Amino acid sequence: MAIYEYRCSSCGVQNDVIQKMSDAELTTCPACGKETYSKQISAAGFQLKGNGYYVTDFKNKPASSCETSACNSCPSANG
Ligand SMILES: [Zn+2]
Repeated sequence: MAIYEYRCSSCGVQNDVIQKMSDAELTTCPACGKETYSKQISAAGFQLKGNGYYVTDFKNKPASSCETSACNSCPSANG
């Protein structure tokens, strides 16, 4: 469990939210309902450094439009 500081860039509300590391990041502001709620990087002892830690929960991952096996963009085409 970790405490994250969230802030809405529309109405400016700030809240501390207790989440698991695996929980999805919140985006909807509980005060104004806009999708401008975002996690702040605070100095609460949570630092990203070193190797081996990646955040890969991008929501809008582009769909693969590759149709050729010679495409260099496809990781699976390298074998
Ligand atoms: Zn808001």
